Amino acid sequence: MATHETKMLIIGSGPAGYTAAIYGARAGMEPIVVQGLQPGGQLTITTDVENYPGFRDVIQGPWLMQEMQAQAEHVGTRMMWDTIVEVDIANGPPYRAVGDSGDVYIGHTLVIATGAQAKWLGVPGEQELSGKGVSACATCDGFFYRGKKVAVIGGGNTAVEEALYLTNHSDDVTLIHRRGELRAEKILQDRLFAHPKITVLWNKRVDEFLGQPLQGGLKGLKLTDTVTNEVSEFACDGAFVAIGHAPATELFKGQLEMDDSGYLVVEPGTPKTARPGVFACGDVMDHTYRQAVTAAGTGCMAALDAERYLATLEFVKNEAEAVTA
Ligand SMILES: Cc1cc2nc3c(=O)[nH]c(=O)nc-3n(C[C@H](O)[C@H](O)[C@H](O)COP(=O)(O)OP(=O)(O)OC[C@H]3O[C@@H](n4cnc5c(N)ncnc54)[C@H](O)[C@@H]3O)c2cc1C
Repeated sequence: MATHETKMLIIGSGPAGYTAAIYGARAGMEPIVVQGLQPGGQLTITTDVENYPGFRDVIQGPWLMQEMQAQAEHVGTRMMWDTIVEVDIANGPPYRAVGDSGDVYIGHTLVIATGAQAKWLGVPGEQELSGKGVSACATCDGFFYRGKKVAVIGGGNTAVEEALYLTNHSDDVTLIHRRGELRAEKILQDRLFAHPKITVLWNKRVDEFLGQPLQGGLKGLKLTDTVTNEVSEFACDGAFVAIGHAPATELFKGQLEMDDSGYLVVEPGTPKTARPGVFACGDVMDHTYRQAVTAAGTGCMAALDAERYLATLEFVKNEAEAVTA
């Protein structure tokens, strides 16, 4: 078991973590990234990415993340293939974290970039057809369904927002909800019900995603009426599961402030948590935008703030030493 000490310990290796690493390394912070169970983050489970700036042609999510990792390493980041299982925020700084490997990580600043995972229904066909007609992100994939028939599954704010967004691409959007009323805010419901391109299917549970991954992808949904138990099929080209996201914040429970949905709370407009030298960036603190480019943006902010935090500490220490000398 080894101990690794760094000026900047980054937990998570999605766009937020890698961008923090690039900026941190270039500022001389010699960062360590603990990559977790999904090196490269959520983009490694998708294919086409069309909205990351700088690429005119469609790029692949896993490729983009390999490039980010390579850039972070090139400028001096150490990558650790480990998963943090314990972290002590209360007694820092410096902050101590323990990996699944048994290794100990000491960070004079801590950048939390553990991301979030979309919640899925867990029914047959869903994972097999993911990226082949099934998605959890309309902003990411809506463009691929131009002029096609799409369904959105869910009844909260996310589902209504996804349905409204999809009307930019599709004239035939159906919101499918297992209850007879929505949980979404009233103003969003009003916009939804008034929209000519959106139909709502009430009291329908999705039991299966139909289609073959290698033969045209999603063809439709198998539905059961939650009131009558009647089974039916709904034909569509795309289905967006919009039942929320789960931020990866279990490690920080009781140690850092979280909102009702478990997202880390930061000072508005910054990646600063309430603890000195602890920063949160990317999807773990952002339930609104949830994009690779916004995650990268807040990763950059976290690294810049971490560097400034350490520089200020150093300055104060030097001043104090000068006075006592
Ligand atoms: C299928 C799909 C398609 C998408 N398509 C697009 C798109 O086209 N364009 C776009 O902009 N966005 C897209 N997104 C959204 C985008 O992927 C996310 O917004 C972005 O990845 C968030 O980056 P992040 O760095 O905050 O976290 P994530 O990418 O979620 O990465 C989190 C990282 O934290 C690590 N981690 C978690 N817990 C621990 C731990 N205990 N110890 C160590 N490491 C840990 C994980 O291993 C992972 O590396 C898509 C998302 C999905 C799921």
